[in-house]
Order: sequence, then structure tokens, then C-alpha cells
Amino acid sequence: MSQQEFLTSVQQFMDNAARHVELPDGLAERIAQCNSTYSVRFGVKLRGRIYSFEGWRAVHSEHIEPVKGGIRYAPDADQDEVEALAALMSLKCALVNVPFGGSKGALRINPADWTEDELERITRRFTQELARRDLIHPGRNVPAPDMGTGEREMAWMADEYRRIGRSDAMNQNACVTGKPVVRGGIEGRVEATGRGLQYALHAYLNHSDTPGVNGRKTLKGMTVVVQGFGNVGYHAAKFLAEDGARIVGIVEHDKAIFSPDGLDVEAVAAFRRETGSVGGFPGAETVPSEQGLTHMAADILIPAAKENAITSENCEQVDYGLIVEAANGPVTAEAEECLTRRGITVLPDLYVNAGGVVVSYFEWVKNITHLPFGLMEKRQKVSSGAAVVSALEEIAGRPLGESHRAKIARETGEIDMVRSGLEEIMIRAFDDIMERKKTLNGVTLRTAAYVVTIARIAEYYRAIGL
Ligand code: GLU
Repeated sequence: MSQQEFLTSVQQFMDNAARHVELPDGLAERIAQCNSTYSVRFGVKLRGRIYSFEGWRAVHSEHIEPVKGGIRYAPDADQDEVEALAALMSLKCALVNVPFGGSKGALRINPADWTEDELERITRRFTQELARRDLIHPGRNVPAPDMGTGEREMAWMADEYRRIGRSDAMNQNACVTGKPVVRGGIEGRVEATGRGLQYALHAYLNHSDTPGVNGRKTLKGMTVVVQGFGNVGYHAAKFLAEDGARIVGIVEHDKAIFSPDGLDVEAVAAFRRETGSVGGFPGAETVPSEQGLTHMAADILIPAAKENAITSENCEQVDYGLIVEAANGPVTAEAEECLTRRGITVLPDLYVNAGGVVVSYFEWVKNITHLPFGLMEKRQKVSSGAAVVSALEEIAGRPLGESHRAKIARETGEIDMVRSGLEEIMIRAFDDIMERKKTLNGVTLRTAAYVVTIARIAEYYRAIGL
């Protein structure tokens, strides 16, 4: 299935939802399309010759600025994919009420083909191209990590942006989120998407109007298959295992492993780090990756890899009670019809994986206010951090080092604030989806979520007179 079909799928979901919202003529199409997509080719001199790279930054909707969304490094990235992902960013921000428009970027590259130094040079060069057009800018367009990128790339981008000096020095650090904590990042951003998924699943199970999964409403003992064991898949598996769920399968791009008794998530991660693959993990059955999604029935599937994982080709063969979309676009529009017919519920991407951008928002606020996150709201918590510091200083008979003090302040302030803020936002968004679902007879959770967001975006457009 091509990336073009991914874009078509997102547009189809939007069309389905737009039928349930009263919109002025033409506004539905405006919301469905990206405002602009910048594409760039640039050369970098490496290994004694010039290599060319192709990248994109799509801006879906500037109804609120800055626009926000990750930058993905992938060998098969293309413009259609980036545009579909940018549209999803607008929707997910509106759904969780985070005041950003949607954007997304990609560089067509396989990071494994390059050394760290080379990746740094390529990333810095890409940053220059984006900065020239304000496609990275604290008040206009704020990238973040996505597939194939992480804290390291964000630190390079922020540093390059600072050197270029295109915005006022005070706010430069807010030009990207997902930075390392020591470089202006925020505690809890790395695992934010997995954490948000955990809260989303709790919200689904705890809501009085949902049927739960196979008639059950607690994660304890539920069986889970995870597809994709990158940042999001790994953290989702880890947190759900901590909740008492049994991770019975992990499906990766090269091999899939299964164990009905449950896999030890940390042990699999360590094994993969050592051997480069999950395949051959001791005590588990290894099967070819293509059979991964249909190999075993389970209560929950978490597709955390890429778009188009469940299509019209395999939707009849998958056997789960609930599909929790950690990736963007893993279930196509056609496949969702088939799953709905078969009684399989899908918890949609724009809700499930919004945790990343929510915590990015906290980081951005922290950067532009220059205050540790939560200091104003939770003075009590922070002062309990200060109390811990003075107690320790008393015992030690000398002042604590700066990094130690910062660590204590973080542990008693920032991480709690990030978690509780994220949890509250995820619960509230799910309530909004369910409230909308009630008024629209028989629609899916996805349609209800799209309706909530399209109505909100339309409201913004109306307010600015479009
Ligand atoms: N790449 C993540 C996403 O697709 C995070 C975006 C962000 O934090 O801006 O939602």
C-alpha cells in the first residue's frame, strides 16, 4: 500500500466526519488540505563526495501558530506521507486542546547508513534549509522527534538554529521540542507517547459507556501484541506490563516473537540491543515478520510502527478485541470498516498518540516562560523539593552541588507535573470523544474524535473570519 493511499485514508476519515458537522461551504475542503508543503534537495560533502538528500516540511493549517509536528528520518518518506501526517497533527492538537496548528517534516534517509558525525552534518544542513524559510522558528513552526529521530537530532537542530540566530535570543530554545533535559528539554518527553497511550487505554477502560475489551475492564492479565519496538512500542509495552498486562507478542520489521506466558520487555530490549534483532529471543517462538499480526489472537493489538499495517488484505485475519493505534495511520479506512463489522474496536491515532505533542507543549511553555514547568501551579510540590534539599544539606553539612539540587527539584516537581498534566488531558479528551459519540448514532470512536476536532478547527477559522 502506497503513502498516497495513507493520505487518501486520512482524507476519507475527514470526509466521513465532516458530514456530521455543520460547516460553511468550502471549509471542509480547506481543512482537509495542507496549506503548503516545502520540498528541498540539498547536498552535503561526505566521504569525499557530495551526497544529495531530499526533505519536506508540510504545514497543514496555520489556524493557530506556531504549527507543530515531528521530523521523521526514513528511507521511504515522501510528500504524500508528510502531508497526511501534518493533517493528523492539526487534528490531534485540536483534540487535546493544545494551541498549535499542524505540521510535519521528513528527510528521505536511512539513519543506519550514516555515522553519528555524518548524521549531525546532514541534520545541521537540513536545519539551515528549514530556518531560511522559518519552517523552524519558536513562534511559527516547532519541530520535534518522530520515527528515526530523537533527543540527539533535536539538540543538533536547536544548536544550529541558535547559531543561525534568526529569532530573538531569549526564545531560541523553543524552536524545537524533544531536546535533552540538560539542553532545555523536559522530564518525561522521551516516554511521553507511550505514557499517553497508557493513560488513553485507562480512560477507555474506566469510562462507564465503553464495553472494555472482550468484556473486561482491567488490564490485569490482558494479552497484548505490540507491532514496532521503537520508542513508542517499547514504552507502551513496558507501561502496560507494569499495569499487569501480558505482552505475548512483539512484531518487528525483520522478525516477530511470541510467548503465551508473556515476554519480559526489558529482557527483549536488552537482547535486541546486543544482537540487533528480537528474532531468536530465548524461550519465545520466532516467526517471520509478515505473519506477526495474524499469528496469535490477543485482547489488544498495539500497532506502533508505521501507517498501513492493517489493510483490506489482512483485516479479516486479525483476531483482537481492541486495536490501540500508537502509530499514525496504521489502520486504513477500508480496514476500519471491516474491523467494525467484525466487532473489533479501534482506539484512534489522533487520540492515542497525542501524548508526545502534549508534553512537547509543556516543554515549549517551559522554554518561552523560562520557568521550571509547574513552578507557578504547584508551589507546594516545588517547595517540598526545596525542603528535601535543605534537609540533605543539613545532613551533609555543606551545600549540594547544582546538578544534585536540580535533580531533586525535578523529581519532586517537573516529572509529577508532566505526568498528572498529561493524564488529565487524556481523560478530558476521551470524555469529549464519548460525549460526541453519544450524540451521533453508531459512529466509530475515530469518527467521533474527528468530529470533535473538525468542529474546533472550524470554530477557530470562523473566529478569524475565514
Ligand atoms: N512526532 C510526534 C507526533 O507525531 C510528536 C510531535 C510533537 O511533539 O510536536 O505526534
